[in-house]
Amino acid sequence: MSNSINQSRRNLFSRRKSKVNRPPWVKADIDFTDICTRCDKCITACETQIITRGDGGFPEINFAQDECTFCQKCVQACPEPLFDLAQNVPWQIKATINDSCLANSGIWCQTCKDACDPRAISFKPAIGQAPKPLIDLESCTGCGACVAPCPNQSIKIQA
Ligand code: SF4
Ligand code: SF4
Ligand code: SF4
Repeated sequence: MSNSINQSRRNLFSRRKSKVNRPPWVKADIDFTDICTRCDKCITACETQIITRGDGGFPEINFAQDECTFCQKCVQACPEPLFDLAQNVPWQIKATINDSCLANSGIWCQTCKDACDPRAISFKPAIGQAPKPLIDLESCTGCGACVAPCPNQSIKIQA
C-alpha cells in the first residue's frame, strides 16, 4: 500500500480512535488501523459475538448484547502483531453511568449491580430517594456485563 493511501487511512480513522473500543489486549502503542488487515478472524472467534465490523471494516467492541469474558479467543485468532497478553490489564476501559439512570427519576433499579461479577457496582442508601449506583473503578474490568441488562441504556464502557 502506498504511503499516501496509508496516510489517508490514518487521517480517516484517527479522529475516531478515542471513541472506539478495540478488542482486549491490543497493544497500547500501535496504530491499530495500520496493522489490522480487516480479516474478520477475531470477529468469528469471539465467543460472545461482541466484536463487530465497525467503521472502515475494522473490529470494534459492542456491548449492546453481551459482555467480554476475557477468553482470549480473539487474541489467539489474530495473525497480525496487534496483541500483547503480557500487559497487566486487557484494556483501560471502564463503566460509566450517565444521567439517564432510572435512579435519578426515583425508580428503584439495581439490575447493573446484579450483572457485575467483580462487584464493582454498589448502591448507597439515601433517605427519601432511590439509591444511586456507584462504580468502583479499581474493581471494574470493563467487561461490559452491566451494559445490556440496564433497562435504560444508561451505561457506557469507555476509556
Ligand atoms: S476476549 Fe473473548 S469474549 Fe472478549 S472480545 Fe475476545 S473473543 Fe470476545
Ligand atoms: S441498571 Fe441502569 S437504570 Fe438500573 S440502576 Fe443500573 S445504571 Fe441505573
Ligand atoms: S463493566 Fe463489568 S466490572 Fe465494570 S461495572 Fe460493569 S459489570 Fe462490573
